[in-house]
Amino acid sequence: MSSTDQDPDRLYAAREPIFPRRVSGRYRTLKWWIMGITLGIYYLLPWLRWDRGPSMPDQAVLIDLANRRFFFFWIEIWPHEFYFVAGLLIMAGLGLFLFTSALGRVWCGYTCPQTVWTDLFILTERWIEGDRNRRIKLWKSGWDAHKIRLRVTKMAVWLAISVATGGAWVFYFADAPTLLGELVTLRAHPVAYTTILVLTATTLVLGGFMREQVCIYMCPWPRIQAAMMDEDTLTIGYRDWRGEPRGKHRKAEGAETLGDCIDCNACVNVCPMGIDIRDGQQLACITCGLCIDACDEVMEKIGKPRGLVDYMALSDEGRERAGQPPKPVWKHVFRIRTILYTALWSAVGVGLIVALFVRSDIDITVSPVRNPTYVTLSDGTIRNTYDVRVRNMQGESRLFQISVQPSDLFRVEVEGARNGLVEVPPDAIELNRVYVMAPPGSAAASAQSTDLRIWLLDVEADTRTYKDTVFNGRNAR
Ligand code: SF4
Ligand code: SF4
Repeated sequence: MSSTDQDPDRLYAAREPIFPRRVSGRYRTLKWWIMGITLGIYYLLPWLRWDRGPSMPDQAVLIDLANRRFFFFWIEIWPHEFYFVAGLLIMAGLGLFLFTSALGRVWCGYTCPQTVWTDLFILTERWIEGDRNRRIKLWKSGWDAHKIRLRVTKMAVWLAISVATGGAWVFYFADAPTLLGELVTLRAHPVAYTTILVLTATTLVLGGFMREQVCIYMCPWPRIQAAMMDEDTLTIGYRDWRGEPRGKHRKAEGAETLGDCIDCNACVNVCPMGIDIRDGQQLACITCGLCIDACDEVMEKIGKPRGLVDYMALSDEGRERAGQPPKPVWKHVFRIRTILYTALWSAVGVGLIVALFVRSDIDITVSPVRNPTYVTLSDGTIRNTYDVRVRNMQGESRLFQISVQPSDLFRVEVEGARNGLVEVPPDAIELNRVYVMAPPGSAAASAQSTDLRIWLLDVEADTRTYKDTVFNGRNAR
């Protein structure tokens, strides 16, 4: 009887606590590996060192929010290269579409942070309070010294995990060893403490207490994913044509008419979502595969073939019911839809790699100053002013020369610099005021506008880049 049945005035059922049982098997092992790798990457990545010269922290992965730059090992993304981030997001989206269309909710079941952290919280809970039956007993028992000790220990461990999770996040935004020192000596910026506090609270609440509620009620992804799945998508199901009618009493009269399911509830007891896969496909199922491991264990014990609960596609159901073998897995995976996703994903990936290799590590932006559009000097020379930003994307200081073309029509002066030579510090953008002048009586001086190219030369590397603009003459509107 549900809580709403008990109290007709209540609109919502109270949460039924779930105590997933420990299980071992192929999918559980896969989940352990993925959990270890993803958590390892998350916690340790900010501590990987990478030589970035004297002006930047020697950190392999760094988000420099102040200068809107992103460092990933040898790759540096500057604000004007945001298309790299957009490309990576598109690839992540297409990758998700690809995996969902081939293997259903594998993202949810194996790699989603909510799943990984919930798994970690359940693991520690099991270490401290015991497996399913002991946890249920403890939950039902009254408060005594034993229960208080276990609950306090669990909360302390959960809190430590949550603080470590929030702490690891801020290390991506500054030099990790320096920030750690500042954090423990209470010299860090208040934003760092606030971020850790917020992430500690969300990790603890979402991973420790809300768990499956996040997937069922808060996350929009299960609703969207259904649109990407079709009858060939491999997802988790129960072979009811083999399992039914279910029954426990194998030795009783008429047992020979029973199916393979012995109604042991092992698949339900291991499910972190608390559902029964024998009821059919459900929105709550994150396709973690733990019910497969549990049922395979049971099938082995009773001498039946594995796979009563298994990855399967809807299109195979009819075939299997008719006694035919299911289609090979590769036929489910390689379909027009998945090939299209793979092609798009690869095209974006190749485009990004090409863009990465052909990009220049110097850059200029040119903003003409249009108030006024031109100035007439005492000798009749027409002068235009430009704000030229020179971007040095290398770890050492570099000397640049600013020049203009056509050089026979114009003369150039850079404010505060001789011969157009400017030195730009490492990993910096330098704003220069540039004056371009056309001699009195020249064609450019009297024309409405003349095309102008502003060149930037890296003096030592002898590499050049340019930006096109216009020069406004006396007849400019
Ligand atoms: S039904 Fe099976 S696959 Fe789905 S969430 Fe539960 S244990 Fe995981
Ligand atoms: S684990 Fe297998 S045998 Fe046991 S209830 Fe689930 S489907 Fe039936």
